[in-house]
Amino acid sequence: MLLTGSAATRARFSFEVFPARSGAAALALGHAVQHLSAAGPDFISVTYGANGSNRDASLDLLRYLRGNTDALPLAHLTTVGETPDAIRATIHGIMDAGVHDFLALRGDPPRGLGEDDPAVSGSLDAVQLVELIAQARAERPPLTSVGRTAVAAYPNGHPLSRSRAEDIEWLIAKQEAGAQFAITQLFFRAEEYLGFVDDARSAGLEIPVLPGLMPVSTIAQLRKVASLAGRPAPPELERALEEAGGYAPELGVEHTRELARELLAGGAPSIHLYTFNRHEQVLAVLRDLELLTPDPVSPAHHLRSAVDAPNS
Ligand code: FAD
Repeated sequence: MLLTGSAATRARFSFEVFPARSGAAALALGHAVQHLSAAGPDFISVTYGANGSNRDASLDLLRYLRGNTDALPLAHLTTVGETPDAIRATIHGIMDAGVHDFLALRGDPPRGLGEDDPAVSGSLDAVQLVELIAQARAERPPLTSVGRTAVAAYPNGHPLSRSRAEDIEWLIAKQEAGAQFAITQLFFRAEEYLGFVDDARSAGLEIPVLPGLMPVSTIAQLRKVASLAGRPAPPELERALEEAGGYAPELGVEHTRELARELLAGGAPSIHLYTFNRHEQVLAVLRDLELLTPDPVSPAHHLRSAVDAPNS
């Protein structure tokens, strides 16, 4: 689809939220997603617990987004510890709730289990899950959404992979299985994403790769992001957070804004913001980037335009 005017030139964005773990957190999340939805994201993705641990809570949140906001929900799905039949039933349950867009993941081993445990090594991998979603979709054709399948990408390598070449090969296998776009693991520096995407393009990757970014507020969050990114946090950001007493949301906003600027200038198709179930920081990033002006294009069109664009 071709967009015209400002919608064609303005960069796009999407959000990630996770199911609330208490009644009070659910109330706060309801408030946050109203604000996130009003910003007009391409989609809001909802995480899924390993082993189906928060399956019901994920489905409730997807239903809430579907029924109470204008945002297009996208369901994360993991396979670890679940049989193909159980996963197929979950996919159908999500589709029956009117949600047809998925992020296909293998997931991490549940606490206490290693990679070699049969419950883990016997699970479907992400490529097989992309194929299973395609089959399930054929059995339940979408009525209200185009139904896209996303997959994860790791700019700094996944702990299981031995080399960047293996990571890229695996990402291309997901593309060949039918994935339409990828969302990255968190990272701190634009060159980590841009270098990975460049190498992947040279190897034959064609699908858009959405950079995943999270504005941190605390030292603990910064360390968590560093462990997920597989790279140390920028020392100046860590120092500034420490000097501020360990809590400074404005520093996370500033870092994410500058990172997003470099990524978009380098060709990233849009930015995917991990919200930590809060709207203030991610909306501050978007406001600073002047991406918050509303436009009349529907959420489903946003998803299509973000993932159809020929770009990084
Ligand atoms: P895969 O892509 O299947 O494998 C990861 C890596 O392992 C590959 O990149 C490759 O290097 C290697 N590898 C695996 N199999 C092969 C193979 N056969 N051949 C070659 N290489 C192989 N976890 C949750 O539990 N719930 C969530 O909601 C969730 N959301 C996420 C969202 C995003 C954007 C990201 C990046 C991660 C998310 N995760 C989530 C974490 C994810 O489940 C873990 O990172 C998990 O370890 C890998 O899942 P995957 O689907 O990326 O795995």
